[in-house]
Amino acid sequence: MENYKMLERIGEGTHGQVVQAMERSTGKIVAIKCVRSSDKASKNLLREIESLKALDSNYVVKFLDHFCHSFSFYLVLEFMASGLPEMLCDDDIWLDDSHLKTYAHMLFAGVAHMHATKIIHRDLKPANLLISSEGVLKIADFSLSRLLLSTSTADDDVDDQRSSQCYTGQVATRRYRAPELLFGSVHYDQSIDMWSVGCILAEMQMKTPLFAGDSDMEQIAIVVHNLGTPTDETWPNRNEMPDYNKLKFTRCNPVPTNELLPDFDELLVDLLGKLILYNADKRLNAQEALLHPYFFNEPLPCLEHLMPKPPKDHRQKLMPKPTKVIESLEKNFSCLYQILDEI
Ligand code: ADP
Ligand code: MG
Repeated sequence: MENYKMLERIGEGTHGQVVQAMERSTGKIVAIKCVRSSDKASKNLLREIESLKALDSNYVVKFLDHFCHSFSFYLVLEFMASGLPEMLCDDDIWLDDSHLKTYAHMLFAGVAHMHATKIIHRDLKPANLLISSEGVLKIADFSLSRLLLSTSTADDDVDDQRSSQCYTGQVATRRYRAPELLFGSVHYDQSIDMWSVGCILAEMQMKTPLFAGDSDMEQIAIVVHNLGTPTDETWPNRNEMPDYNKLKFTRCNPVPTNELLPDFDELLVDLLGKLILYNADKRLNAQEALLHPYFFNEPLPCLEHLMPKPPKDHRQKLMPKPTKVIESLEKNFSCLYQILDEI
């Protein structure tokens, strides 16, 4: 703890705070994520540490250190100047198709590394994709991630204890949740991440979520309305989903792609059509997606070193600082008492 000088709060997640800090010995700026060790959330932080330690990619946020202090866990990460949502909504930053193509390429490259390391992220969404000061997109927030089970590894977060090869179905933020999760499956694999990536790519173009349900039922209804009622052809094993037969659908055909993805590049429509599929077995994996013609046709992806760079104060610029940060921190986030002492 004493190795770092805490600077300011930069993020607030589901389970804790993210603070910008300076490593005293080097002057290096880092991000520190903290949760109280008594919280259930500490399990997620430990999970995150385990995954980040196993990963080594330019497209995954770098794990630097971790420590415990006064009943809290702290995770030290490389500092990321911005996030994908901030880059997309900043009118001063011009992102054209070649920039978005490079973001897509970086995302697939990070996911390909993650999946090759047998880690499923399980919560891919724009808010968990951060942008470095160099303009590089990196996958963050591994708090819901887990190792893919090989054979008889028991799962500690499983809802359904029948099998040793099932995972909890309560993962992924609703709008990016694959259909098998929406229908309660606990037997899934890395292809749930590929569905989320498809939704993210569409959102990068449209600047609005592709399937924006406000409840689980609404989410299912929106997906079914757009992809059409599942059939033997589009989703052969749908009846194996625990909740599939609990719902009745009126028959509907898929919405034509030019309506669902208006004004999209044809090759991007083709790529999304191979990710946003009911049948998880048919979704492209990240390695295959990297070889899709979308990446080899005009406009070519922008070179990484030419990608737009977020300004240093990007978050502050877009989200004006609350006037009484310290007061609100003291009131709401007791886990930061030690940090405040340091300021
Ligand atoms: P949670 O699990 O609580 O969602 P995240 O890891 O997603 O936690 O972090 C919450 C927010 O904190 C992010 O959306 C981002 O704004 C900020 N944040 C997280 N990690 C970093 C980092 N390494 N550098 C800068 N900001 C970060
Ligand atoms: Mg998050």
